[in-house]
Amino acid sequence: MARTYFAQKRVLVTGGAGFLGSHLIDRLLDQGHEVLCVDNLFTGTKRNIEHLHAHPRFEFLRHDVCFPLFVEVDEIYNLACPASPVHYQHDPVQTTKTSVHGAINMLGLAKRLKCRIFQASTSEVYGDPAVHPQTEAYWGNVNPIGPRSCYDEGKRCAETLFFDYYRQHGLDIKVARIFNTYGPRMHPADGRVVSNFVMQALRGEPITIYGDGSQTRSFCFVSDLVEAFLRFMETPKDLPGPVNLGNPNEFTIRELAELVVELTGSDSEIDYRPLPQDDPLQRRPDISLAKERLDWTPKVQLREGLQQTIAYFKRHEFAEDPIAQQVQPIIAKPLLP
Ligand code: NAD
Ligand code: UDP
Ligand code: UDP
Repeated sequence: MARTYFAQKRVLVTGGAGFLGSHLIDRLLDQGHEVLCVDNLFTGTKRNIEHLHAHPRFEFLRHDVCFPLFVEVDEIYNLACPASPVHYQHDPVQTTKTSVHGAINMLGLAKRLKCRIFQASTSEVYGDPAVHPQTEAYWGNVNPIGPRSCYDEGKRCAETLFFDYYRQHGLDIKVARIFNTYGPRMHPADGRVVSNFVMQALRGEPITIYGDGSQTRSFCFVSDLVEAFLRFMETPKDLPGPVNLGNPNEFTIRELAELVVELTGSDSEIDYRPLPQDDPLQRRPDISLAKERLDWTPKVQLREGLQQTIAYFKRHEFAEDPIAQQVQPIIAKPLLP
């Protein structure tokens, strides 16, 4: 097939061997683009991209975004950063460095190339929110010195850098604030609530609810989120963001546990554990801006998304996987191979 030079872009995805990045890469390749995946495999895994090894438009580069990167691309998605609390608290100094030095390097790269750059920011910039649901106008309620701060403040500083490059250098930026997202290719040992509950249910182990389970989250399925990334990236330069991306349907953690038990047919019982420090009590995105400007709304509801996620974990037989046995709720463990 002839190469479509005009439609085709060279796209850099940092963090591309991770959960979200690998799904984004699949979509970009489907659209006919060339993809350079840059990842240091800190929390990502080659397993997430092994199906792409023979792909003629895919390239993998093992590299840490804390160091300068000189490549030639047309567009950048900056996703590199550990995302689960267990992972980002494992080496908190490195987490902040990845967010801040990583942002500076990728912004410097985008500045030299005069190309558009997307930042995977997070609902964590709202901290334990005093405003509910959260709109982009809310400045947040973040503890600057707690165990989650390396991630929250790192991501906040990255947003600052993005907006300073936008104002100072006229850079074309797209800052997305991503709310809890789940789906196939989450790592079974990443300690996040969906992967923990599904793995525990599949193994018939107790489901570890932190606190009384009344805290809430709003869960977005990965295919919906990636669709929003692509739409956001196509918007005019006058929409730098931040734009909230997530599914506004809100559930208590106890409701999630009950649903996972029902869908897996497990006989797991509930094991209540202490609530980690600074754990946000509620979280739900106001996605009016994304609806209006991206003409986007999430389609996959929790029950359906969980069924696909459970099927993935079953298919890959993580229940028998020694890596997955490393799951230790609350206590940070060494990272992935
Ligand atoms: P993930 O841990 O699966 O992926 C992150 C990827 O970044 C991994 O492949 C990891 O190896 C890589 N990485 C980490 N540090 C790096 C470094 N210094 N240099 C190069 N690569 C590095 O997590 P994810 O859920 O796919 O998250 C992707 C991005 O989206 C992150 O920036 C995260 O903060 C953001 N985000 C995710 C969620 C969510 O619910 N999944 C919510 C909010 C924000
Ligand atoms: N940078 C990079 N790749 C490039 C251009 C820049 O990694 O193609 C890095 C560069 O090493 C620098 C950072 O991006 O540390 C910020 O670059 P910028 O040009 O904004 O600032 P300066 O180089 O003036 O510090
Ligand atoms: N959680 C839980 N049990 C677990 C893992 C997480 O009850 O085994 C809770 C956690 O305390 C938080 C919510 O589930 O209130 C979401 O946690 P996660 O780590 O997935 O993401 P967060 O939104 O906190 O970054």
